[in-house]
Amino acid sequence: MPATPRTAPVTPGFKGLGLGEALVKAVAALGYEEPTPVQTATMPLMLSGRDLIGQAATGTGKTAAFALPMIQRLTETDPPAAGARRASRRATRGLVLVPTRELAMQVAEAVHKYAHGTGVSVVPLYGGASMLQQIRALERGVDIVVATPGRALDHLRRQSLDLSAVAMLVLDEADEMLDMGFAEDIDAILEATPEARQTALFSATMPPRLRAIAERHLRKPERITVQRETPAAGKLPRVRQVAYIVPRAHKAAALQRVLDIESPTSAIVFCRTRLEVDTLVETLNAHGYRAEALHGGMQQRQREAVMRRFRAASADLLVATDVAARGLNIEQLSHVINYDVPSAPEAYIHRIGRTGRAGREGTAITLAEPREHRQLQALERATRQKIEVATLPTVADLRARRLELTSASLREQILAGELDDVRVVVEQLAGEFGILDVAAAAVKLAHSALTGDGEEQELPAAPPPREGRFDRGPRERPEGRAPRERAEGRAPRRAAPSGPTARLFFGAGREAGIRPADLVGAIANEAGISSRDLGAIEITDRFSLVDVPEEAADHIVETMRKTMLRGKKVLVRRDRAGE
Ligand code: AMP
Repeated sequence: MPATPRTAPVTPGFKGLGLGEALVKAVAALGYEEPTPVQTATMPLMLSGRDLIGQAATGTGKTAAFALPMIQRLTETDPPAAGARRASRRATRGLVLVPTRELAMQVAEAVHKYAHGTGVSVVPLYGGASMLQQIRALERGVDIVVATPGRALDHLRRQSLDLSAVAMLVLDEADEMLDMGFAEDIDAILEATPEARQTALFSATMPPRLRAIAERHLRKPERITVQRETPAAGKLPRVRQVAYIVPRAHKAAALQRVLDIESPTSAIVFCRTRLEVDTLVETLNAHGYRAEALHGGMQQRQREAVMRRFRAASADLLVATDVAARGLNIEQLSHVINYDVPSAPEAYIHRIGRTGRAGREGTAITLAEPREHRQLQALERATRQKIEVATLPTVADLRARRLELTSASLREQILAGELDDVRVVVEQLAGEFGILDVAAAAVKLAHSALTGDGEEQELPAAPPPREGRFDRGPRERPEGRAPRERAEGRAPRRAAPSGPTARLFFGAGREAGIRPADLVGAIANEAGISSRDLGAIEITDRFSLVDVPEEAADHIVETMRKTMLRGKKVLVRRDRAGE
């Protein structure tokens, strides 16, 4: 890997959006080269104190879009004392509400990183963790609280959380919070904050119920949507588009597996940040790939040297940020690989347009995290082409592919001839062993020399129950409950229906008094489905999931929407976890 200087030029983009020096430095240190579209649209508004509604999915850089302005505004104003009771304590002035504890941890971690050097403090509050520890942190005084609504309300009731000085409030993934039944909690929490606060609401979708909440709590909000217009048909590249769904913890291994199977002749792997580029290059090179880094932190001279090596084929792979790859004139890339889903469809189209040129077939591969399905759909809409969601090649696939490569090499060698000097060894051994055994042994040696030992671990096809501490995991995971994947992996309590099934989501659970019998009874009686045909039922505090025969799913949804469960109408829809 080339030595890359860390003294990257200050990003004019972030500065231009109105961020102060400390934060510009913080984002540069994280390797962000330029603001993403949602950041460009959001930050100036947030900094000006306006309320806003942002329609943006995860992965677009939305956390930084609200967290950076929040930190900046909090450093610009003096903290008021937090009530007479504890006059010396720092008042909580920034509040971020999120649907799940994973998200609470992840957003708090991001805020912590961005706030480096500013003195702004943050604490996450979520269910399933020690209340006492959270109370102690709050007693010390924190500037920004990132909380799930349930736990925020718990603290409010115990008076361990004082929101009377909140100046900025963010509702993140608001549609998910509603789906999880947090609407009333949100109302109650917002009532505990000053009316004069600034409020930002982010959501991937805008259902009417959410609009009503926005109308109640936001003042003349500006609207921001990051999904832009789709480009003209003529500008769309024609490439094979494939996506693999990979948990973050397994991305590097998955990339190597994909590279091994695809054997690209020349490829660019796109990453979001410089740090990601450097780390990935190190990992790849440690595993025998010839990868070179290309990012905005490198000097022009270094970048040119990298490009020379790439063109001369002494490097097989470029690992680059968008900024660094811009303006590069590279002919004939066989593959473009997105290590992450790009933050905007335009970036995706720009990236994949680098392959499939001059009438050759190109391949664009995207590694998406389990919760990024929606963004893949946005890319499909933008390119008006299908993205094939493939399963990661297994170790068996890989072995088969490697054997194919070995046999191709042997075929070439046989055709090339010049085997006289080794033929004598074959003749000798043929006196002792069968000729097939001799050949098999030779192939085995050649195979391991050509492809290594191949001691790959099987990669999980679905996300494991828990990844790294700050990985979000699936958004549907309710706070303090068993992780959703475990629920999905459980042995069904009921016999599974024989044909294809669909999972239905009911927006009421244990807290509403729902029991399995209520669900089975209502579906059987109202929709006329035999209880034998229903599959697993999972009831959590706030919602329930029922597996039903696929062919009856829509009918059940329609019927159940009109049916009362425990005296109440509840939200019913197909579960979106697997989308
Ligand atoms: P989010 O949509 O907030 O979940 O962010 C998705 C990912 O993008 C996170 O890993 C961020 O660290 C990263 N990210 C956010 N802003 C930028 C940026 N301007 N440049 C590169 N990466 C970014």
